[in-house]
Amino acid sequence: MIKLNGTVTDGNNFFENTDPFDLIAEYGSPLYVYNERLLRENCRLLKNFCPYPQFQLHYSVKANANLSLLRIIREEGLRVDAMSPGEIVVEQAAGFSSGEILFVSNNISDTEMQFVHDKGILMSVDSVSQLERYATLFPDSEIFIRFNTGIGAGHHEKVVTGGKNTKFGVTPDAIPAVKDILRRYNIRLKGINQHIGSLFLEKSPYMESVESIFEIARQFDDLDFIDFGGGFGVPYHKQEGQGALDFCDMGQALAAAMKNFSNEYGKQLTYVIEPGRFVVCEAGVLIGTVHAIKENHGTKYVGTDLGLNTLMRPAMYDAFHDVEVYRATEDVSAAYEAVTITGNICETGDILAKNRLMPEIFENDLICVLDAGAYGYSMASNYTCRLRPAEYLITGERGRLIRRRDTFDDILAAYV
Ligand SMILES: *Cc1c(COP(=O)(O)O)cnc(C)c1O
Repeated sequence: MIKLNGTVTDGNNFFENTDPFDLIAEYGSPLYVYNERLLRENCRLLKNFCPYPQFQLHYSVKANANLSLLRIIREEGLRVDAMSPGEIVVEQAAGFSSGEILFVSNNISDTEMQFVHDKGILMSVDSVSQLERYATLFPDSEIFIRFNTGIGAGHHEKVVTGGKNTKFGVTPDAIPAVKDILRRYNIRLKGINQHIGSLFLEKSPYMESVESIFEIARQFDDLDFIDFGGGFGVPYHKQEGQGALDFCDMGQALAAAMKNFSNEYGKQLTYVIEPGRFVVCEAGVLIGTVHAIKENHGTKYVGTDLGLNTLMRPAMYDAFHDVEVYRATEDVSAAYEAVTITGNICETGDILAKNRLMPEIFENDLICVLDAGAYGYSMASNYTCRLRPAEYLITGERGRLIRRRDTFDDILAAYV
């Protein structure tokens, strides 16, 4: 096998002793592949970057809810967030206790509230309307509330979740109404949270949002914790040398801000972050196969099995993923050319990489999409009745299947 553009997976020894062609032969194409060592390294980096004693990490499971990965993340001492009852079910199957789960809700039903409450899991609501619903159902209970202070950040307008143009959070002007409900129903506000958006690589927007949530915290007397949300970015343009977030610098700044605020507040508050992407993104790749090459009106298309049903991010967010190419033979073609790499779905937007300068690609080459561990499998679907791929974990010397490929029976199973 030869690797073209393969500096990243060679650099971190992603595949260890495994051969991508063997994995594809055994588990089918496409295939999600994760590396346990890299996953554990990310967890440890997060656990250690911020030197504040009551600092709590809640992995945001929507980035990747694979049960085996969750067990590893739990072993590393992280807790979790959930955003749906289904996520709670998976988290509890992975061994997380109710006390280790925070539920961050958005527009949920009474039945869902009841489900979370019955499990003894603390929930955040993100509107006055949902607060009142919760309070009516469960007076004399506890809650936390998501605020939107008007600050947002992210790599695409669809992932900016704070700020003035998003559906999320309670705005500061509603604080009197919030207090009124808390008082009338005897609800204790244990914490406040926010999530400004996803994928920042500079500390300034996050630190700015930290200051603005402190502004909200000052208006409540007896909080136990403040949750700053997730959004810690990873560099998707590694092949161009894009740098990573400076965790050391960020950790110092966060710890100083936390300490100052606790002093001012007169209480050793617990501070929470909810990273999703950062935990799993770089620990996963997606491998697919080239089935066709053609030229259409001056554009060269590389046709693969990596449809938007398998990896949604490029179609949904115009997201960029670095791509490596693996070839079973030793035929190296030195020629670079601009190509558009597409999937196998009947959608014009089914494009993995547009107008990308790549070494010449041939049929039967493998395409390895980097940084696919987050929002990859978790957003995969059965669109066009395609089977979602298997997931495989490289664990040191050996590896193992951690989710089988869908079957046609899975496709038929839910029809009545
Ligand atoms: C999606 C989400 C996260 C995780 O975001 P990442 O960008 O993956 O770190 C954290 N908190 C909330 C409320 C979210 O919706």
